[in-house]
Amino acid sequence: MTQTTVLNASAEAIALEDRYGAHNYHPLPVVLAKGEGVYLYSPEGKQYFDFLSAYSAVNQGHCHPKIIHALIEQAQTLTLTSRAFYNNRLGVAEKYITEYFGYDKVLMMNSGAEANETALKLARKWGYEKKGIGGNQAIIVAVEGNFHGRTLGVISASTDPSSTGNFGPFLPGYEIVPYGDLAALENILENPNVCSVWLEPIQGEAGVYMPPAGYLKAVEQLCKAKNVLLMIDEVQTGIARTGKMLASDHEDVRPDVLILGKAISGGVLPVSAVLADDEIMLCIKPGQHGSTFGGNPLSCVVAVAALQVVKEENLVENAEKMGIIFRQKMVELQAKCPHLITLVRGRGLLNAVVINDTEESETAWNICVNLAENGLLAKPTHGNIIRFAPPLVITEAQLNECCTIIENVFLAFEK
Ligand code: PLP
Repeated sequence: MTQTTVLNASAEAIALEDRYGAHNYHPLPVVLAKGEGVYLYSPEGKQYFDFLSAYSAVNQGHCHPKIIHALIEQAQTLTLTSRAFYNNRLGVAEKYITEYFGYDKVLMMNSGAEANETALKLARKWGYEKKGIGGNQAIIVAVEGNFHGRTLGVISASTDPSSTGNFGPFLPGYEIVPYGDLAALENILENPNVCSVWLEPIQGEAGVYMPPAGYLKAVEQLCKAKNVLLMIDEVQTGIARTGKMLASDHEDVRPDVLILGKAISGGVLPVSAVLADDEIMLCIKPGQHGSTFGGNPLSCVVAVAALQVVKEENLVENAEKMGIIFRQKMVELQAKCPHLITLVRGRGLLNAVVINDTEESETAWNICVNLAENGLLAKPTHGNIIRFAPPLVITEAQLNECCTIIENVFLAFEK
């Protein structure tokens, strides 16, 4: 390759996406061609630390050798049978996943949004068939600021105009209460038609919002008292990200319906899962829900390998330990940047730094462009919040190097 071809590779990739792809994303002007562990590389060979981890899908690090090995072996053997037949991988994965998370049954899907759709359908069915709610009367309680994906069923409960604008009419059957507000929830649960409360234990997309301490536990108790299912979306927070296997574990909460995605495959394939006990899961009968690709042998093998890596490499413990170091450094940085940083928050390796500017401002975006130029990839959410979520395999030495990059860039913007 000539020098010009090499230099043009990134520009060409951007131009192609721009010309031929739908404009449903606004990426940073960075092109990635290779990944390994905590690193990503441009086509020109520039190295970056990944501090987004594909929205927490790549917890195990890019192209983890064990997961890729499992993928390749299975890809050469059998990829898809559909669920019209049994396959020799699904049952094994179902046993592994249910024992891993402690539930009777799992229903495997592909994307996080699909897993949430599955949970919504399951909750309604349980509401009619077990709780005895009258036909088409079931209500699901969601919270303000939620993000559960992009399907119509899911966005019908969204309070974010960028998710809902001109996509109506929406599905009925939702009630929305403020996140963290127990009194509002208690009030709405007086309605006997409520079949489920549905929330994230930390709101990742909203900007790493954490509810008040004790909230999740109190929600669990309220749900039990009112015979309502607690459905927790751990698509972003689950699988070691927050320094526990599930973010719900921080308050010793066991959701009735657990929703997983992203890191269940280590970012290798779209795999998602809904877990529940028999009483709930068996409400769905043959032919009532499914997906051609859900539970395919390739996904099953990849998911098992990805979950094994989480335990074998102590990613829960590493996320907790590195998270404490990271937040400590960011709090120190906040003291050095009193005009620029308003808040540092997060758990484990799901953290956010809030920039002292409006949601419409360009500051956070410009900081992220600058971070990228200096070899670290992060992306603003809601304009003025920068989420920092590296792969959980990051070492202390790498983390320190990253904190130095972040510090230098922030100090330059503080001036
Ligand atoms: N739920 C949560 C909490 C998420 O953060 C996301 C994606 O960011 C989703 C669901 C949707 O997952 P997917 O993009 O795989 O559909």
